[in-house]
Amino acid sequence: MTSPARDRTPVRDQLQRPVRDLRISVTDRCNLRCVYCMPKEVYGASFPFLPRAEILSFEEIVRVARALVGLGVRKVRLTGGEPLVRRDLHQLVASLAGLPGVEDIALTTNGLLLPSRAAALRAAGLRRLTVSLDAIDDGTFRAMTDVGVSVERVLTGIAAARAAGFDPIKINAVVKRGVNDQGMLALAAFAREQGHILRFIEYMDVGHTNGWRLDAVVPASELRDRLDATWPLEPLPARYPGEVATRYRYRDGGGEVGIIASVTRPFCGACTRARLSADGRLFTCLFAGTGHDLRPLLRGGADDDGVTRALEEIWRGRADRYSELRSSQTTGLDRVEMSYIGG
Ligand code: SAM
Ligand code: SF4
Ligand code: SF4
Repeated sequence: MTSPARDRTPVRDQLQRPVRDLRISVTDRCNLRCVYCMPKEVYGASFPFLPRAEILSFEEIVRVARALVGLGVRKVRLTGGEPLVRRDLHQLVASLAGLPGVEDIALTTNGLLLPSRAAALRAAGLRRLTVSLDAIDDGTFRAMTDVGVSVERVLTGIAAARAAGFDPIKINAVVKRGVNDQGMLALAAFAREQGHILRFIEYMDVGHTNGWRLDAVVPASELRDRLDATWPLEPLPARYPGEVATRYRYRDGGGEVGIIASVTRPFCGACTRARLSADGRLFTCLFAGTGHDLRPLLRGGADDDGVTRALEEIWRGRADRYSELRSSQTTGLDRVEMSYIGG
């Protein structure tokens, strides 16, 4: 018999950070081609997406999650690629929700498939939903997502999620200067009216395919000033140490808004996130070049204790703080793509 994973002492990395959050990418495929994530010139018909046999089964994902919960993970987020293109995702939600120690399960989606999936996800135990929506204006939305899908489809998905009981819903918006920044106030107005919690995210230099340039980043300070000029803001205290979004309250009672300043105000010191790719590699940083391949263990007969020990060793050795070091020295480094590792 192997000892139950949850009996272990929480592990800390080289910088004394525990592992608290697990982001699971369930697929590297997507039904959109957002210009900052999967530009269609790169992710075309001949792009080598992962073959099915290389993708972890739900059972394999749950095994890794169970081991990491034993080491300290309390929050799990499902992402991708587009997680809802993976069939029967609600079954994975149900299994993760049943793991003792998991306090919170969330899903990040582009929202297109929510009309047929929201109710099953809710019934399976999903309580928190983030929908990525970068513009409310159809022309801008189409320019960002680049496959000829209208913004109405996402709005229908959001409405379906609300009807299924998700409320409030979080909206994530990446801001790219000259592409959607002129529409940020319209998006904020929509979120205020509908009671959704909006988070603006600085455009990040993830991967190598999106042609990232610093001048396309709209810094958090500018995002805040632009919002504040229309609806005066008041800062809100962080709800827990290391909260990534800086939150504000609209002084007129219009709810809250957050800004995630991954580029201009890095938060590596409090980064407690591990990321599992769809093909079973554990990444200890969003900007890591390589992950630790867990498949040889998972498919090679290792018992649960062996899997836990391997994960413990990986986390103990972690010293990542890419965003704090971001500079001319880091631009040439090998970096994993966002659609593969999931944001
Ligand atoms: N397809 C799902 C979606 O879009 O919500 C989940 C995966 S997506 C990679 C997760 C999040 O990463 C999305 O909110 C997306 O906007 C964000 N993202 C992708 N590329 C980014 C970049 N270069 N900078 C900042 N955020 C990015
Ligand atoms: Fe797809 Fe999400 Fe990336 Fe857009 S951000 S291309 S929806 S994975
Ligand atoms: Fe965490 Fe890496 Fe992002 Fe720093 S750069 S906050 S270590 S994922």
